[in-house]
Amino acid sequence: MTKGVVLHGTGGAWHVQCEHGDAVVAALRGKVKHASDVKLAVGDQVMLTQDAGSGWAIDEVLERKSVLSRREPGRARGERTIAANVDQVIVVFALREPEPHVAMLDRFLVIAESNALTARVIVNKVDLAGDEEARSLFGAYESIGYPLHITSARTGHGLEILRQQLQGRTSAITGPSGVGKSSLMNALYPGLSLRVGEISASVNKGRHTTVGAFLHPLPDGGFVVDTPGLREIGLWGVPSRGLDECFPEMRALKEECRFADCSHLAEPDCAVREALQRGAISSTRYESYQKLLSEALESERF
Ligand code: GDP
Ligand code: ZN
Repeated sequence: MTKGVVLHGTGGAWHVQCEHGDAVVAALRGKVKHASDVKLAVGDQVMLTQDAGSGWAIDEVLERKSVLSRREPGRARGERTIAANVDQVIVVFALREPEPHVAMLDRFLVIAESNALTARVIVNKVDLAGDEEARSLFGAYESIGYPLHITSARTGHGLEILRQQLQGRTSAITGPSGVGKSSLMNALYPGLSLRVGEISASVNKGRHTTVGAFLHPLPDGGFVVDTPGLREIGLWGVPSRGLDECFPEMRALKEECRFADCSHLAEPDCAVREALQRGAISSTRYESYQKLLSEALESERF
């Protein structure tokens, strides 16, 4: 038996990176398919055997450590697994071009939190404005507990530390388009030609295949998740239940609210709103909470 990780799959042919050696193409054995209702996803760890006819087969799917799944907004129920065994979500923003939209960052972080995944924030294009401005705009996230990386794909600033954080881990890299996700990956791993975040509308023209999810092995160990679904993360739904727990600075306080099910909107003796008044919780973060909560409640009404 060989252990491997699923890199990509189309039409029942799964590309699996073996632990020691090359990537192989394998089919899922019928008995595995029926044994569980879990659909195989990129990042899944599997056990493989080579058949006499030299084909490879997946005999077992190992238990997942984590999943990154997409909650459909609106009336659609259920979740779709984007990738399994993701170690961290890396949210990339730019200091300029495009102008950073901090409410959007909060949404990305909530999605990471709702999947119980660690997140870090990259502020790229620091060459366009400087370290000080990056810290004044995004420093608050570091205080909340999100590691902050200030980078420039153009000058190479901050890339070495980022490389160390990607090494040996499976990372889902996301952020608005144009912030430099692909440029960062290409600056870190020249020759890998990752096109993270590219919306390749033309790829499918005239073909009936879907561009699926990919897991890219990194040269110094670890993987980067690239899927069309991840590019649309701004459209993913967020849960209303437990939304406050997706804000680490609120999570720490909610025990002190008078009501256990406090929504932190209007209830008396709310520790979250008291912290807001003291300035211990930032008003932009609180506004994001309000906005995401009303959006989630609205979509759950159907
Ligand atoms: P993506 O959509 O997030 O993958 O963004 P791209 O990597 O395609 O970059 C969008 C644009 O920003 C390109 O024109 C890049 O050359 C430019 N860019 C990327 N990183 C930097 C940076 O650190 N500094 C500057 N000044 N421009 C950058
Ligand atoms: Zn409260």
